[in-house]
Parts: sequence; C-alpha cells; structure tokens
Amino acid sequence: MAEFKVVAVIGAGQMGSGIAQLAAVAGSDVWLLDKDAGALHGAKGSISNSVQRFVNKGQLSKEVGIKALERLKYTSNLEDLRYADIVIEAIVESEDVKKKLFAELDKIVKGSAILASNTSSISITRLATATKRPQQVIGMHFMNPPPIMKLVEIIRGADTSDETFTATKTLAERFGKTVVCSRDYAGFIVNRILMPMINEAFHALYTGVATKEDIDAGMKLGTNQPMGPLELADFIGLDVCLSILKVLHSGLGDVKYAPCPLLVQYVDAGRLGRKRGIGVYSYV
Ligand code: NAD
Repeated sequence: MAEFKVVAVIGAGQMGSGIAQLAAVAGSDVWLLDKDAGALHGAKGSISNSVQRFVNKGQLSKEVGIKALERLKYTSNLEDLRYADIVIEAIVESEDVKKKLFAELDKIVKGSAILASNTSSISITRLATATKRPQQVIGMHFMNPPPIMKLVEIIRGADTSDETFTATKTLAERFGKTVVCSRDYAGFIVNRILMPMINEAFHALYTGVATKEDIDAGMKLGTNQPMGPLELADFIGLDVCLSILKVLHSGLGDVKYAPCPLLVQYVDAGRLGRKRGIGVYSYV
C-alpha cells in the first residue's frame, strides 16, 4: 500500500489550497504548485488562516498546525513534483488543459505515482488517455471547502486498477473524509444532481418567477439546505458551474442540462461569484 509520504497538489485556488492543507495536516510532505505566483502567495495566507481557525476552535493542536505549515512547499516548477507519490490536480475545469498537464506529469513523476483529478465533471477515462499509466489515473473529487466538507467522491476510469482505487480511498480516509464511489459518467453523483438544481434556480430568476432572495430563502427554508442555490452558485464560482453544465449537456446529450442564458451572461460579464466580489449577489 502506498504511504503517500509526498503529496503534490496542482492549482492553488480555492480547492487546491484546501486539499494541500488536508494533506499537510495528515502528515505528508506537500508541494503546492501554481503557474501564477500571486495564487501561491494567496494560498499561503489562506492556508495559514484556515489552520489557525482549526487551532482556535480546538479541532487541531497548535503543534500539529505548526508542523503542517512547515511541511508545505510552494512552487511553479513541475520538476519539483518528481518525487510525489500522488499528484492531485485542481486547475481550471478544461479537458484540454488538464490533459496537457497530465501528459507532462506522466513524463516527470515516478512510475508508481498516482495521478488524481479533482475535476467536477470531466471524464477520468479521457484524462487517462493523455498518459501511459491509465491504471493509475483516478478522480478524487473534494467538496468546497475541502478542509470542512466531509465527502470525497472517488471516480474510477475505465482502466483504473483496484490498487489505485484502494490506495486513493485510504488517503481520503486519512484526510478524515467519507468516500463514495461513482462510475465515470458526466457529473458523477453530486454534480449530476446539484447542477440541474442550480441551473433551474437561474431559470426561475431569468423568467421572473421570484427575486434571488426569495428563490434562495425558499430553497433554504423549504428544503432544509444550508445555502440557497444561487448563493451556493456564487460560492462555487459561476464559471465553474457553467463549465460543469456544459460537460453534463454534451456528455449526457440531454437538453435539460443546457446552461441558462442568464448564467452564461453573468460569466460573460465577469460576474463569477464570491471570488470576484460579484456574481448573483454583490460582495463588495
Ligand atoms: P480556481 O480558479 O479557484 O483555481 C484554479 C487555479 O489553478 C488558479 O490558481 C490557476 O492559476 C491555476 N492553474 C490553472 N491552470 C494551471 C496550470 N496549467 N498549471 C498550474 N496551475 C494552473 O478554481 P477552483 O474552484 O479551485 O477549481 C479547481 C478545480 O476543482 C476545477 O477542476 C473544478 O471543477 C474543481 N472543483 C471545484 C469546486 C468548487 O466549488 N469551486 C468543487 C469541487 C471541484
């Protein structure tokens, strides 16, 4: 069984920084890579703040928190990842960009390393074709924010081996997560069901059924969800929601997944949600 002494995470955005934090707290040496130095700088600050919050709440000892921060290294150089036992990518939700990255990684990391993707919806089977190790390619889909949400969806591609599945599941459990296993169809379990709900909330807003506040309050109080669907879309990122809906639409071939024009327009306008200070709601 792989020990996962060295874990590499690619993409230091909201997901990647949280995954890197989990791996460091669980005792691995962690490389966090991003092509953008500003993103690495931001991730360093947000991980440090997040670890401090866990310590303040008594959910993590100060010693473990300090050691975790010491285990984290930041880089923009792929070569630094060559000793990783697993690489978890959390870069932009684009099949072409992820495939290009996997092809490069395949040449750099050691032969035994697992290549995992945090993709929300893209086919693991197709990502694996960019490598010569499809049996070691797997989907490891964390929920947002990774340090808090309890679930990891694990997705087996057509050629993912039992060893890779078992090792990845063990790692997710070491992070304190509960694992569900999905077959490799667009959207897997969670987004297959969540994104049509978010899209329908946009349609309700677009066609004037109700105000954004009433749509969210209705779903929050009426179905006992912690956030309304529009608020949740802002939290996830409207660009991420749009990408996932496009994958559902093309992958499953059903018009019911076609993105609502209002969602498309918000993304076109750069209203990407909380991360940009404006989405359905304004955060400035
Ligand atoms: P994000 O925009 O916050 O961060 C992405 C980061 O990747 C950026 O810092 C960017 O500079 C970096 N990046 C992009 N291309 C790169 C490359 N080729 N090499 C190195 N770095 C690169 O995005 P996010 O919300 O963290 O999402 C990342 C992935 O996680 C996506 O695949 C998304 O679908 C998935 N995901 C997102 C959520 C969510 O709620 N946002 C939840 C689960 C999974």
